[in-house]
Amino acid sequence: MIIDNHMKSILENREALAKIVNDVAEVAGYLWQKGWAERNGGNITVNITEQVDDAIRALPAISPVYQIGTTLPHLKGCYFYCKGTNMRMRDLARWPMDNGSVIRILDDCASYVIIADKPVKPTSELPSHLAVHNYLLAKGSPYRASVHTHPIELVALTHNKMFMEKDVATKMLWSMIPETKAFCPRGLGMVPYMLPSSVELADATIKAIDDDYDVVMWEKHGVFAVDTDVMAAFDQIDVLNKSALIYIAAKNMGFTPDGMTDEQMQEMSVAFNLPK
Ligand SMILES: [Zn+2]
Repeated sequence: MIIDNHMKSILENREALAKIVNDVAEVAGYLWQKGWAERNGGNITVNITEQVDDAIRALPAISPVYQIGTTLPHLKGCYFYCKGTNMRMRDLARWPMDNGSVIRILDDCASYVIIADKPVKPTSELPSHLAVHNYLLAKGSPYRASVHTHPIELVALTHNKMFMEKDVATKMLWSMIPETKAFCPRGLGMVPYMLPSSVELADATIKAIDDDYDVVMWEKHGVFAVDTDVMAAFDQIDVLNKSALIYIAAKNMGFTPDGMTDEQMQEMSVAFNLPK
Protein backbone atom coordinates (compact mmCIF):
# COMPACT_ATOMS: atom_id res chain seq x y z
CA MET A 1 0.00 0.00 0.00
CA ILE A 2 1.29 3.44 -0.91
CA ILE A 3 0.69 6.06 1.74
CA ASP A 4 0.59 9.57 0.34
CA ASN A 5 1.50 11.83 3.23
CA HIS A 6 0.43 14.87 1.25
CA MET A 7 -3.17 13.73 1.46
CA LYS A 8 -3.19 13.52 5.25
CA SER A 9 -4.87 16.45 6.95
CA ILE A 10 -3.49 17.96 10.15
CA LEU A 11 -7.05 17.57 11.49
CA GLU A 12 -6.95 13.78 11.24
CA ASN A 13 -7.05 12.10 14.68
CA ARG A 14 -7.02 15.52 16.38
CA GLU A 15 -10.53 15.96 17.66
CA ALA A 16 -10.02 19.26 19.51
CA LEU A 17 -8.26 20.92 16.57
CA ALA A 18 -10.82 19.56 14.09
CA LYS A 19 -13.62 20.99 16.27
CA ILE A 20 -12.02 24.45 16.18
CA VAL A 21 -11.63 24.40 12.39
CA ASN A 22 -15.17 22.99 11.93
CA ASP A 23 -16.50 25.84 14.10
CA VAL A 24 -14.66 28.35 11.88
CA ALA A 25 -16.29 26.70 8.84
CA GLU A 26 -19.72 26.84 10.50
CA VAL A 27 -19.32 30.54 11.33
CA ALA A 28 -18.06 31.26 7.79
CA GLY A 29 -21.31 29.73 6.52
CA TYR A 30 -23.37 31.96 8.82
CA LEU A 31 -21.48 35.07 7.66
CA TRP A 32 -22.28 34.20 4.04
CA GLN A 33 -25.93 33.36 4.78
CA LYS A 34 -26.39 36.67 6.58
CA GLY A 35 -25.04 38.61 3.63
CA TRP A 36 -22.11 39.87 5.68
CA ALA A 37 -19.40 38.20 3.58
CA GLU A 38 -19.62 39.28 -0.05
CA ARG A 39 -16.85 38.03 -2.35
CA ASN A 40 -13.71 37.50 -0.22
CA GLY A 41 -14.89 39.91 2.50
CA GLY A 42 -14.05 39.22 6.12
CA ASN A 43 -11.33 37.36 8.00
CA ILE A 44 -11.11 34.81 10.77
CA THR A 45 -7.99 33.84 12.72
CA VAL A 46 -7.80 31.48 15.70
CA ASN A 47 -4.86 30.91 18.02
CA ILE A 48 -4.63 27.08 18.09
CA THR A 49 -1.35 26.83 20.02
CA GLU A 50 -3.00 24.95 22.92
CA GLN A 51 -3.99 22.16 20.49
CA VAL A 52 -0.50 21.76 19.06
CA ASP A 53 1.35 18.51 19.84
CA ASP A 54 4.94 17.38 19.21
CA ALA A 55 4.00 15.88 15.84
CA ILE A 56 2.65 19.25 14.69
CA ARG A 57 5.73 21.03 16.06
CA ALA A 58 7.83 18.64 13.94
CA LEU A 59 5.93 19.33 10.71
CA PRO A 60 8.10 20.94 8.03
CA ALA A 61 7.21 24.24 6.42
CA ILE A 62 5.30 23.97 3.15
CA SER A 63 5.85 27.62 2.22
CA PRO A 64 8.72 30.10 2.07
CA VAL A 65 9.33 32.21 5.16
CA TYR A 66 7.00 35.21 5.06
CA GLN A 67 7.63 38.43 6.97
CA ILE A 68 4.77 39.70 9.16
CA GLY A 69 6.00 43.30 8.79
CA THR A 70 6.26 43.85 12.53
CA THR A 71 7.68 42.04 15.57
CA LEU A 72 5.17 40.47 17.97
CA PRO A 73 7.12 39.07 20.95
CA HIS A 74 4.22 37.23 22.62
CA LEU A 75 3.60 35.08 19.53
CA LYS A 76 6.86 33.11 19.78
CA GLY A 77 6.08 29.46 18.98
CA CYS A 78 2.39 30.17 18.40
CA TYR A 79 0.23 28.51 15.75
CA PHE A 80 -2.84 29.98 14.04
CA TYR A 81 -5.57 28.82 11.73
CA CYS A 82 -6.09 31.68 9.24
CA LYS A 83 -8.53 32.28 6.42
CA GLY A 84 -6.67 32.45 3.11
CA THR A 85 -6.18 35.65 1.18
CA ASN A 86 -8.76 36.17 -1.59
CA MET A 87 -10.73 33.16 -0.34
CA ARG A 88 -14.50 33.29 0.06
CA MET A 89 -16.30 32.60 3.35
CA ARG A 90 -18.87 30.58 1.45
CA ASP A 91 -16.12 28.30 0.13
CA LEU A 92 -14.36 28.11 3.50
CA ALA A 93 -17.65 26.93 5.00
CA ARG A 94 -17.38 23.75 2.96
CA TRP A 95 -13.63 23.33 2.58
CA PRO A 96 -11.83 25.02 5.50
CA MET A 97 -8.44 23.48 4.76
CA ASP A 98 -8.56 24.50 1.08
CA ASN A 99 -9.49 28.10 1.91
CA GLY A 100 -7.39 28.56 5.00
CA SER A 101 -4.21 27.16 6.52
CA VAL A 102 -2.24 26.62 9.71
CA ILE A 103 0.79 28.84 10.24
CA ARG A 104 3.71 28.70 12.69
CA ILE A 105 5.25 31.92 14.02
CA LEU A 106 9.03 31.62 13.87
CA ASP A 107 11.38 32.36 16.76
CA ASP A 108 12.19 35.88 15.51
CA CYS A 109 8.51 36.72 16.19
CA ALA A 110 8.58 38.67 12.92
CA SER A 111 7.99 35.91 10.34
CA TYR A 112 5.97 32.77 9.77
CA VAL A 113 5.64 29.67 7.63
CA ILE A 114 2.61 27.67 6.53
CA ILE A 115 2.66 24.08 7.83
CA ALA A 116 -0.73 22.58 6.82
CA ASP A 117 -2.66 21.40 4.92
CA LYS A 118 -1.88 23.32 1.71
CA PRO A 119 0.24 26.44 1.06
CA VAL A 120 -2.78 28.77 1.20
CA LYS A 121 -1.40 32.25 1.92
CA PRO A 122 -3.19 33.88 4.89
CA THR A 123 -5.43 36.93 4.68
CA SER A 124 -3.84 40.29 3.84
CA GLU A 125 -5.22 41.41 7.23
CA LEU A 126 -2.88 38.93 8.96
CA PRO A 127 -0.56 41.57 10.50
CA SER A 128 -3.47 43.33 12.22
CA HIS A 129 -5.05 40.04 13.38
CA LEU A 130 -1.69 38.84 14.74
CA ALA A 131 -1.10 42.20 16.45
CA VAL A 132 -4.43 41.75 18.24
CA HIS A 133 -3.56 38.16 19.27
CA ASN A 134 -0.17 39.44 20.51
CA TYR A 135 -1.96 42.07 22.59
CA LEU A 136 -4.42 39.49 24.01
CA LEU A 137 -1.61 37.11 25.03
CA ALA A 138 0.37 39.97 26.60
CA LYS A 139 -2.67 40.80 28.68
CA GLY A 140 -3.21 37.18 29.75
CA SER A 141 -6.59 37.15 28.04
CA PRO A 142 -8.36 33.80 27.44
CA TYR A 143 -9.51 35.07 24.03
CA ARG A 144 -8.25 32.97 21.12
CA ALA A 145 -10.44 33.96 18.14
CA SER A 146 -10.87 37.10 16.06
CA VAL A 147 -13.53 37.69 13.42
CA HIS A 148 -13.80 40.58 10.95
CA THR A 149 -17.00 40.84 8.91
CA HIS A 150 -19.37 43.36 7.27
CA PRO A 151 -22.76 43.23 9.09
CA ILE A 152 -25.04 45.31 6.91
CA GLU A 153 -27.16 47.10 9.52
CA LEU A 154 -24.28 47.82 11.92
CA VAL A 155 -22.22 49.27 9.06
CA ALA A 156 -25.21 51.39 8.02
CA LEU A 157 -25.37 52.90 11.54
CA THR A 158 -21.84 54.26 11.16
CA HIS A 159 -22.93 56.41 8.22
CA ASN A 160 -24.52 58.69 10.82
CA LYS A 161 -21.98 60.75 12.84
CA MET A 162 -24.27 60.62 15.88
CA PHE A 163 -23.68 56.88 16.24
CA MET A 164 -19.90 57.33 16.02
CA GLU A 165 -19.90 59.22 19.34
CA LYS A 166 -18.64 57.05 22.21
CA ASP A 167 -21.30 54.57 23.41
CA VAL A 168 -24.24 56.22 21.59
CA ALA A 169 -24.67 53.12 19.40
CA THR A 170 -23.94 50.83 22.37
CA LYS A 171 -26.69 52.41 24.44
CA MET A 172 -29.21 52.30 21.60
CA LEU A 173 -28.38 48.67 20.73
CA TRP A 174 -28.44 47.51 24.36
CA SER A 175 -31.82 49.18 24.85
CA MET A 176 -33.55 47.31 22.00
CA ILE A 177 -33.75 43.94 23.78
CA PRO A 178 -32.30 42.81 27.14
CA GLU A 179 -30.24 39.92 25.72
CA THR A 180 -27.98 42.27 23.78
CA LYS A 181 -26.53 43.76 26.96
CA ALA A 182 -26.29 40.29 28.54
CA PHE A 183 -24.48 38.72 25.58
CA CYS A 184 -22.44 41.69 24.35
CA PRO A 185 -21.77 43.12 27.81
CA ARG A 186 -18.91 45.42 26.84
CA GLY A 187 -20.80 47.08 23.98
CA LEU A 188 -19.56 48.37 20.66
CA GLY A 189 -16.31 50.35 20.46
CA MET A 190 -16.07 52.86 17.62
CA VAL A 191 -13.06 53.47 15.40
CA PRO A 192 -13.28 56.33 12.86
CA TYR A 193 -12.66 55.54 9.19
CA MET A 194 -9.12 54.44 8.38
CA LEU A 195 -7.61 52.72 5.37
CA PRO A 196 -8.30 48.94 5.43
CA SER A 197 -5.21 46.85 6.30
CA SER A 198 -3.36 49.91 7.62
CA VAL A 199 -1.16 49.88 10.72
CA GLU A 200 -3.21 52.84 12.00
CA LEU A 201 -6.42 50.79 11.85
CA ALA A 202 -4.78 47.86 13.65
CA ASP A 203 -3.44 50.19 16.37
CA ALA A 204 -6.81 51.90 16.79
CA THR A 205 -8.54 48.50 17.05
CA ILE A 206 -6.19 47.33 19.79
CA LYS A 207 -6.71 50.63 21.61
CA ALA A 208 -10.50 50.11 21.47
CA ILE A 209 -10.19 46.52 22.75
CA ASP A 210 -7.94 47.83 25.52
CA ASP A 211 -10.62 50.40 26.31
CA ASP A 212 -12.72 47.33 27.26
CA TYR A 213 -14.69 46.37 24.14
CA ASP A 214 -14.89 42.87 22.60
CA VAL A 215 -16.53 44.18 19.43
CA VAL A 216 -15.06 47.15 17.59
CA MET A 217 -16.83 48.97 14.76
CA TRP A 218 -14.81 50.29 11.85
CA GLU A 219 -16.69 53.30 10.46
CA LYS A 220 -18.24 52.63 7.01
CA HIS A 221 -16.52 49.23 6.85
CA GLY A 222 -17.31 46.45 9.35
CA VAL A 223 -16.73 44.96 12.79
CA PHE A 224 -13.77 43.29 14.45
CA ALA A 225 -14.69 40.97 17.34
CA VAL A 226 -12.60 38.92 19.77
CA ASP A 227 -13.68 36.19 22.18
CA THR A 228 -12.63 32.83 23.62
CA ASP A 229 -13.62 31.00 20.41
CA VAL A 230 -15.02 31.80 16.99
CA MET A 231 -18.64 30.94 17.92
CA ALA A 232 -18.58 33.33 20.87
CA ALA A 233 -17.09 36.12 18.75
CA PHE A 234 -19.78 35.55 16.11
CA ASP A 235 -22.54 35.54 18.76
CA GLN A 236 -21.51 38.97 20.03
CA ILE A 237 -21.74 40.44 16.52
CA ASP A 238 -25.02 38.60 15.90
CA VAL A 239 -26.80 40.00 18.99
CA LEU A 240 -25.64 43.54 18.18
CA ASN A 241 -26.88 43.27 14.61
CA LYS A 242 -30.19 41.81 15.85
CA SER A 243 -30.67 44.99 17.90
CA ALA A 244 -29.89 47.13 14.85
CA LEU A 245 -32.57 45.20 12.94
CA ILE A 246 -35.14 45.86 15.69
CA TYR A 247 -34.28 49.57 15.56
CA ILE A 248 -34.76 49.56 11.79
CA ALA A 249 -38.03 47.60 12.05
CA ALA A 250 -39.44 50.24 14.41
CA LYS A 251 -38.21 53.03 12.10
CA ASN A 252 -39.92 51.26 9.18
CA MET A 253 -43.14 51.20 11.22
CA GLY A 254 -42.87 54.98 11.29
CA PHE A 255 -41.53 55.70 14.77
CA THR A 256 -38.26 55.88 16.69
CA PRO A 257 -38.20 53.05 19.26
CA ASP A 258 -38.31 54.12 22.93
CA GLY A 259 -35.66 51.61 24.02
CA MET A 260 -35.42 50.19 27.51
CA THR A 261 -34.97 52.84 30.20
CA ASP A 262 -31.65 53.51 31.96
CA GLU A 263 -33.17 51.93 35.08
CA GLN A 264 -34.10 48.77 33.18
CA MET A 265 -30.61 48.49 31.74
CA GLN A 266 -29.00 49.10 35.15
CA GLU A 267 -31.25 46.37 36.57
CA MET A 268 -29.84 43.98 33.93
CA SER A 269 -26.26 44.83 34.96
CA VAL A 270 -27.01 44.06 38.61
CA ALA A 271 -29.09 40.92 37.97
CA PHE A 272 -26.55 39.36 35.59
CA ASN A 273 -23.38 40.82 37.13
CA LEU A 274 -22.42 42.58 33.89
CA PRO A 275 -19.18 44.60 33.59
CA LYS A 276 -20.88 47.85 32.44
ZN1 LIG B 1 -13.47 44.27 5.64
